[in-house]
Amino acid sequence: MIQVTNLKFQYPRSTFELNIPELQIGDGEKVAVIGPSGSGKTTLLNILSGIIVVETGQVEFNGHQINTMSDRELRNLRIRQIGFVFQDFKLLEYLNVYDNILLPYRINSSMAGVSGRGSKAKELCKHLGVGDKLSKYPKHLSHGEKQRIAISRALINDPPLVLADEPTGNLDPENKMKILEILFKMSDANNSTLITVTHDHELLDGFDRIIDFADFQKSTAI
Ligand code: ADP
Ligand code: MG
Repeated sequence: MIQVTNLKFQYPRSTFELNIPELQIGDGEKVAVIGPSGSGKTTLLNILSGIIVVETGQVEFNGHQINTMSDRELRNLRIRQIGFVFQDFKLLEYLNVYDNILLPYRINSSMAGVSGRGSKAKELCKHLGVGDKLSKYPKHLSHGEKQRIAISRALINDPPLVLADEPTGNLDPENKMKILEILFKMSDANNSTLITVTHDHELLDGFDRIIDFADFQKSTAI
């Protein structure tokens, strides 16, 4: 479960302020996050994953107060429990698709001994329609292909929390639906929580709940 209380966050030398008095997201919930560009959606995902550590307010995930954890604890939490599909994918150009997906296992000693990930990577890519791209490098992939590789990397560990930042952006309608169905299926199969930022309002029906950042902005203006 995610519980955010009295969260206030500002970037240094910036007038933007994210202000969330209360936000609760239950295990297995599929939540869409919508709201104007620049309203703080990506910032919230970064806070929930501990990439940004806030000083004001509480951010709790499955009993962990993530804003009080050490860097090492956060890294371990992220690699074991959080799959993040970044808006800009964050694929490493000098690694091929297969190595990009498995990189977290290679660099994190706490994951030593985890087996079967290679075949899982292949299976996920096949499922996402990029099974023939495993030996390709990111510069030879289209935008949509990179997006699907980023999703494979996020799901490889069956994480209890998946954060997806506009995972259907710039895809054609058919592929948008496909991607979303895969994320939903994964969430149903693992009872994992799915938080997806999206601008595709025609896709909102499949979610359990919608969080509209326009509401947070209103509450700060009052
Ligand atoms: P969204 O994802 O809803 O478009 P963001 O969370 O990316 O919004 O950004 C919220 C606000 O914070 C914007 O005004 C953006 O310019 C600003 N911002 C984002 N990242 C940084 C940063 N690293 N430093 C300073 N300001 C930032
Ligand atoms: Mg964003």
